Amino acid sequence: MNTAYLNGKYMPIEQAKISPLDRGFLFGDSVYEVVPSYAGKLVGFMPHLQRMNGGLEAIGISTGWSEKQWLDLCLKLIQENGAGNLGIYLQISRGTYESRAHRFPDKVTPTIFAFCFEIAAAPVADKTLAKTYKVSTARDIRWDRRDIKSTSLLGNVLHYQQGIEQGNQETLLYNEHNELTEASSCNAFIVKNGTVITPLLDHQKLPGITRQILIDVLRNDGKIPIEERVVSMEEVAEADEVWITSSSREIAPVIAIDSVPVGNGQVGDIWLAAQTLFSANRFNY
Ligand code: PMP
Repeated sequence: MNTAYLNGKYMPIEQAKISPLDRGFLFGDSVYEVVPSYAGKLVGFMPHLQRMNGGLEAIGISTGWSEKQWLDLCLKLIQENGAGNLGIYLQISRGTYESRAHRFPDKVTPTIFAFCFEIAAAPVADKTLAKTYKVSTARDIRWDRRDIKSTSLLGNVLHYQQGIEQGNQETLLYNEHNELTEASSCNAFIVKNGTVITPLLDHQKLPGITRQILIDVLRNDGKIPIEERVVSMEEVAEADEVWITSSSREIAPVIAIDSVPVGNGQVGDIWLAAQTLFSANRFNY
């Protein structure tokens, strides 16, 4: 598991070298994606690509790549790295330029880098096997365009580390109005009286693909009500269930927030129903 792609060539990852003058390194001037793949089957390739292209457009980077080129890249990396459980990482920076200046260089070729890393097997809808999370909370210190999947992740890294240092595995974040935004590397959901609720999308949150798929499968099924709206931290504290979602975790039950149990402190029934639907449909996206 070590074949990477860099600027047109496949190579062992140790041989993939990027200049220190690359703007991704100097400024975090780049965007990225992680597409999960299980036994050679991609989850959410199209929505991941759409989000990536949206991010590239938002920061004024043009690769000229077609959907087929991105798909072929992912499939080639799967083929080269063995079709296990993989996160396919794609990163595009504005490119390497001879001087360090903030303004966009007139002529610069984007750096395109991709590699794979191993991820856990796809979660199964079984309460006894669910990987549960304990989380911290913090006022969200990140920039105002969290909808762009930028590699400028210092705020996310600091928030995540705070959770770790407090003996937890993630950190739930809230804005200046005490409203839930997301977690440092996941989106967030609560369940109250049988209704699934998640914060509305805006510039304060990444539009997660797992979030999008989960909302879609719940709506298509139609049995569990789902609301997208403002969620206060008081509601989080009083929720029956809390989940965090991301491509590699899918729907992860949170069982304690700042050492206080969520609901009865156990994995919930609505989680089971939601992960069951997600598991049945993950390869349809
Ligand atoms: N929010 C943040 C800040 C993230 O980094 C991620 C991805 N790790 C997510 C949400 C979840 O996005 P996705 O479901 O597309 O993986």
